[in-house]
Amino acid sequence: MKRVVLKKGREFSVAARRHPWIFSGALEPTDAGAEMVEVFAAGGERLGAGFHSPNSQIRVRMMPEAPVADLVAAAVGRRADFFANAATDAFRLVNAENDQLPGVVADFYAGWVVCQFTSAGAEHFKGEIASALMKFVPFCRGVAERSDVEARGKEGLSVGEGDAAFAVLAGEEPPDLVEIGEGPCKYLVDVRKGHKTGFYLDQRDARAAVGSLANGADVLNCFAYTGGFGLVARACGALSVVQVDVSADALALAKKNEALQHFCGTKTEYVEADVFQYLRSCRDEGRTFDMVVLDPPKFAATKSQVMKAARGYKDINLLAMKLLRPNGILATFSCSGAMTADLFDKVVAEAASDAGRDFQVVARTRQGADHPVALAFPEGWYLKGLVLRGV
Ligand code: SAH
Repeated sequence: MKRVVLKKGREFSVAARRHPWIFSGALEPTDAGAEMVEVFAAGGERLGAGFHSPNSQIRVRMMPEAPVADLVAAAVGRRADFFANAATDAFRLVNAENDQLPGVVADFYAGWVVCQFTSAGAEHFKGEIASALMKFVPFCRGVAERSDVEARGKEGLSVGEGDAAFAVLAGEEPPDLVEIGEGPCKYLVDVRKGHKTGFYLDQRDARAAVGSLANGADVLNCFAYTGGFGLVARACGALSVVQVDVSADALALAKKNEALQHFCGTKTEYVEADVFQYLRSCRDEGRTFDMVVLDPPKFAATKSQVMKAARGYKDINLLAMKLLRPNGILATFSCSGAMTADLFDKVVAEAASDAGRDFQVVARTRQGADHPVALAFPEGWYLKGLVLRGV
């Protein structure tokens, strides 16, 4: 292994905090390429090993010095409770830095594994990782990759487009739509073209929280994607659901998903619209709901976009609060990593203040236990949720 050396005084983050990233500015020049390297402090102390990515601002990602297959086996082993849990057959197997496999995401969908490799190291090891997943994941039928992830570009990796972004790495080819079960519902997952690896697995606990409060409610599910929150609400006794999304493809799959549940009656309305405009039109028409779910896409990709994002979050939360009937529930989320939980609380509180309404927090949600966060890697906390009840 080549050696890389940190600049004087730059060892604290890796050595004391055990943070897995070394930024380009912290390293002395090196001729190392995309390869495993040994990392030394300026004073000569060996700090461990990591994968060197010559094209990335995150120049080295620290990794345990163990065979990658062992790291995969360990991550899969930590999900034993999920494999044993009859309530769901879809969950995350490998959560990147948080599972000591930087840049590696692997999600399990009822026997099919879909991966994303977003760092040079992940790309380098992907063959080994796919074989290890095939070997260690119980009931594994095939392992595929989605390469249409923007983050790959920052590492100098190719960003796949369309059909070319999907490749089978091991085992069989999955069907176009994979059927999964989660809680009271079934869903079809488009593993080739769906968002992320196909489904928002990270919102499992939040879907359960929403379901637990939905009995008898008229529900507005904003940013519905393939229907998740709205379907759980229906399954848990909601009287009606409006599913709003700007994507016709997402709503088409949401309709297929509804057909899978065998609900009685037709109490779901599908609205292809921009949520910002739709909320205003509800306000103007005086339409009200018992429950509103706001699960928007990432508004802030970087720290510099946080203030603009905060205005967007405040806008939709304020509008949603105004549509709530007395004692109504607002389930509101932010998946922008750059927006801290504290700031999100403040933004939602400001919206309530502007709406002139009081709320109590009945639950806080985050990504589930299959998306663990390494203690030394606070960047891993990206998803925040507040379930509020009007008082
Ligand atoms: N709640 C979903 C995930 C939401 S992902 C679940 O649990 O599965 C965000 C969704 O917002 C995407 O489906 C995207 O099409 C939609 N979207 C993005 N901007 C939008 C806008 N301005 N108006 C309506 N939908 C939007």
